[in-house]
Amino acid sequence: MNDGHVTRDLPIVVVVGGGFGGLAAAKALKRAPARVVVIDRTNHHVFQPLLYQVATSILTPGQIGSPIRGILRNQPNTSVLMGEVIAVDLAERCVVVDCLDRDRVRVHYDYLILATGASHNYFGHKEFEKYAPGLKNLADAVAVRNKVLRAFEQAEGEEDPARHRELLTFILVGAGPTGVEMAGAIASLCRITLRSEFRRIDPASARIVLIDVGSRILGSFSEDLSAAAHKQLEELGVEVLLGQGVEHVDEEGVIVAGKRIKSKTVIWTAGVTPSPAGTWLNAETDRSGRVRIAKDLTVPGHAEIFVVGDTATLDHDGKPLPGVAQVAIQQGRYAGRLIRRRLEGKAMLKPFRYFDKGNMAVVGRGYAILQTRVFRTSGFLAWLAWAGVHLQFLAQSSLRVSVFVQWVWTYLTGQRGSVLIVNHLSGSHTEAKTEPVPLQSSEPVQSSV
Ligand SMILES: Cc1cc2nc3c(=O)[nH]c(=O)nc-3n(C[C@H](O)[C@H](O)[C@H](O)COP(=O)(O)OP(=O)(O)OC[C@H]3O[C@@H](n4cnc5c(N)ncnc54)[C@H](O)[C@@H]3O)c2cc1C
Repeated sequence: MNDGHVTRDLPIVVVVGGGFGGLAAAKALKRAPARVVVIDRTNHHVFQPLLYQVATSILTPGQIGSPIRGILRNQPNTSVLMGEVIAVDLAERCVVVDCLDRDRVRVHYDYLILATGASHNYFGHKEFEKYAPGLKNLADAVAVRNKVLRAFEQAEGEEDPARHRELLTFILVGAGPTGVEMAGAIASLCRITLRSEFRRIDPASARIVLIDVGSRILGSFSEDLSAAAHKQLEELGVEVLLGQGVEHVDEEGVIVAGKRIKSKTVIWTAGVTPSPAGTWLNAETDRSGRVRIAKDLTVPGHAEIFVVGDTATLDHDGKPLPGVAQVAIQQGRYAGRLIRRRLEGKAMLKPFRYFDKGNMAVVGRGYAILQTRVFRTSGFLAWLAWAGVHLQFLAQSSLRVSVFVQWVWTYLTGQRGSVLIVNHLSGSHTEAKTEPVPLQSSEPVQSSV
């Protein structure tokens, strides 16, 4: 690339992905004697653990998304390129990028960090996606929010009470943290926020069904915490169906264990598949396609290429590291530091070691479970810890203040930040999946349509 920003007088470090791993890597390269180029297909970083709060109207998209340029604005050695990486030319040391107005732009690298994350996994049933959207980016979250809110509007406008049941049935497929958090947040939306806003229907009568093929919810947590979360969900009125795989999804709902559950709102929270980085590199991958990396996070045979986060796999104490934000952040930081040390001619770092800070999940209003290596707890205190940790990791201070205020307001009043259907064109029943998403919140902190 020859755009005036990137010249060949200094080594070039290309970081693909402005998610948790890519941003941590770029920040670790702040003072490195290098030109750093961060490439992302969007212009923003998304705080994915709070996507479910956008999908359930608590927060606005602008409260969990931050422009990558803004985050890196004080890093003079770093430039940002918006574009979709489609290939890596290993021989020429270039990534090939489809930019906004130019295709197949070649960007040279001396070092490459791939942090391209993961997307939804429909386990061979891509056709389900049309009826059961997943949650991976801001556009997904807004599409799910529209779908959930529109179900209430449709039910209110429906004169046949027999149809209210299917319109007010919400199905979550997959009982990992996202499914559980979504189920709890939809329950509070129905029973608290929307309770007195409709006249023909009673939102509190909505049916929320959480389905998983496993024998318990939140399989990555200990059995006692999983049981506590299950009990809490049932208290919120969520039906939990375990040991039952979803066999089919269509516009009428789902088929589970041969039985149909009618619903107009099915949400896919069942799993992720890594980005195609393994194919770009022609590298060894695990069965799901995650690139097998060495203990210094490089791709074997390529000391100049690092893969971090959800798109990589690395064994730690005999088990593969989980696809969570902390793994991506710690790996991104390590890769950035290692490259900097190499460029400065300093001694190498010890092999990467993951420091497990614990696991958390929220179940409805003011309740969370928390598991660390030394203790486990659940309830309001765990929720306070969850809130503190999530605020701390938001990308900008302004977001921390705004999200904190919104959470306090929602906790005290039940009102949510963005109960808006923003893509519904008058007279149209089509759902635009790629609608523009505002990056800076222009919606009021508390608003209720
Ligand atoms: C709904 C949801 C809830 C979650 N909740 C939690 C939680 O509570 N706690 C937790 O620890 N983890 C959670 N996770 C997982 C966590 O978000 C991921 O592990 C983490 O984001 C992985 O970081 P990453 O840098 O590998 O990828 P990401 O953060 O996904 O970043 C990937 C980036 O790469 C960009 N990109 C992808 N492909 C290309 C391409 N071809 N060209 C250019 N750019 C590209 C994307 O736009 C994105 O910005 C959750 C994930 C989701 C989806």
